[in-house]
This record gives sequence, C-alpha cells and structure tokens, in this order.
Amino acid sequence: MGAPAKIEMRGLSIDYVNEDQGTRHQAVDGLDLDIYAHEFLCVVGPSGCGKSTLISAISGFLRPTSGTLLMDGVPIRGPGADRGVVFQEYALLPWKTVLDNVGLGLKLRGMPKAERNQTARRYLKLTNLEAAEAKYPYELSGGMKQRAAVARTLANQPQIMLMDEPFAAVDAQTRMTLQEELLRICASTKVTVLFVTHSVEEAVFLADRVAVLSPGPGRLREVLTVNIPRANRSWNQLNNDPDYVAIRDRVLALVRTH
Ligand code: ADP
Repeated sequence: MGAPAKIEMRGLSIDYVNEDQGTRHQAVDGLDLDIYAHEFLCVVGPSGCGKSTLISAISGFLRPTSGTLLMDGVPIRGPGADRGVVFQEYALLPWKTVLDNVGLGLKLRGMPKAERNQTARRYLKLTNLEAAEAKYPYELSGGMKQRAAVARTLANQPQIMLMDEPFAAVDAQTRMTLQEELLRICASTKVTVLFVTHSVEEAVFLADRVAVLSPGPGRLREVLTVNIPRANRSWNQLNNDPDYVAIRDRVLALVRTH
C-alpha cells in the first residue's frame, strides 16, 4: 500500500497467564500484520482464534507477551482516546439518553455542553439516529443501539475504530443494513477500521483487505485484497458480483482448512 502503517504488528504473540494455577494459554502466535491509515481491515477466523484478544491488545488493555505492536510507530502501552472500541454488547448507559450516551466521551474530556451536543448530533445524523436523541436505550431496537454505539465511538474522533463482532446480536436483515450503513459512514469519516468477525460474508463485504487467522492460537494464514470499490457496495449488487463470490469462496476455503 505504500503509506506508513497506522498499526504495525511484528511477531506479535499474546499469552494469557494464570499465576495462581501456573498455566499459560497462547491466544495469538507470531502475527505479522499492518493496518494502513483509512483502510478497512477485517480479521476473520473461527471462534477462539484470538480475534478479541487482538482488539484488547490494540486497545491497550492487554500487553503483548512478545513481538512488536506499534501505533504510528510508537509502542502501544495502554488505552487512549485515539482508539475507539465497539463491542457486540451495546455498552450504552441505560440511565442516559441517546444524545448523552453519544456525548459521554466528550463530556469526560471536558467539552462544554453546547459544543458536545452539537458534535453528538452530527454523529447521530451520520448514523440515522437524529430522531432518537431523546430516547433511552431500552426504547431502541438492537440495530439502533448498535448505531448509537458507533456514533458514540466516532464522536470521540478516534484514529482507529476497533470493532469486535459488533453486529452479531442483531437479526440478519438488520445486520445487512448496518453493514451497508457502516461502509457509507466510513466513506464520509475516512476513519481507519479493524473489524473482527467469524462471518466470512461479512468480512469480505466490508473489507479492503481480509486477514484470515488459523484456529487458536491465531496465526496469520493469508491476507486477501478485495478489489471492489468500498463506498458503494450494497448486498443487492455484491451478492452476484463474480469478484465478491470468488474472494468469499477463497476465504471460506482458508477458514475451513485445518
Ligand atoms: P475469538 O475472539 O477469536 O473468539 P479470543 O481472543 O476471545 O478468541 O480467545 C482466544 C483464546 O484465548 C481462546 O482459546 C480463549 O479461550 C482464550 N482466552 C480468552 N480470554 C482469556 C482469558 N481472560 N484467560 C485465559 N484464556 C483466555
């Protein structure tokens, strides 16, 4: 890709160590992978291959056991506002309105209310939630909750958005809509995205590149480029696109090889 990597992983290994029981479990093994600025990278692999572990390490919540993990050339040593995480569980505060949930990170950073609400409304518009700003999380559908979680993450203007199976809990139709919307949102914000999923279709639909991991401990099997313009992908168009079908089948074969 030519441009410098936003995130650089070299020989990255991550073990879970249980001091009490004297056990060690290797979750990620010797990963060499870059995430470039403005790209949408999907990491796909079976359950337990280390996808969430990777997100935790890049978020700064988990220290690598060995190898290098850099952001803009600097080792990641802890959490920071330059990385925003969207989890499968919506993680919205039930006692706050959608507007206040989306503005929460800005509030914690000391942004005055008027400016905070203005920024939050910009991201609510981007995620088609303008009409829901006064609602509480219990009044929202699963899809709306996840849109609010994306809006909250983006309102903090992170350099990279880390997404851990964010659409796994919604129904199939809503999931397809959210995937299409996410591509539109990413095209307008240009945010860099690392998206992990066990769904091959989802990974290939969303990504500029798909990194396939082996079953745990996660090792990099292959990285494939999806040469289909990202901003205007839709399920209607891609389902029958020979390029999409070819890459999807290739990734499926890689995921299913043991
Ligand atoms: P994925 O997200 O791909 O399903 P995870 O990153 O959650 O995989 O887990 C990778 C491996 O590490 C699995 O074998 C899992 O059981 C193990 N693991 C995850 N979290 C912990 C933990 N806190 N302590 C010990 N082992 C863990």
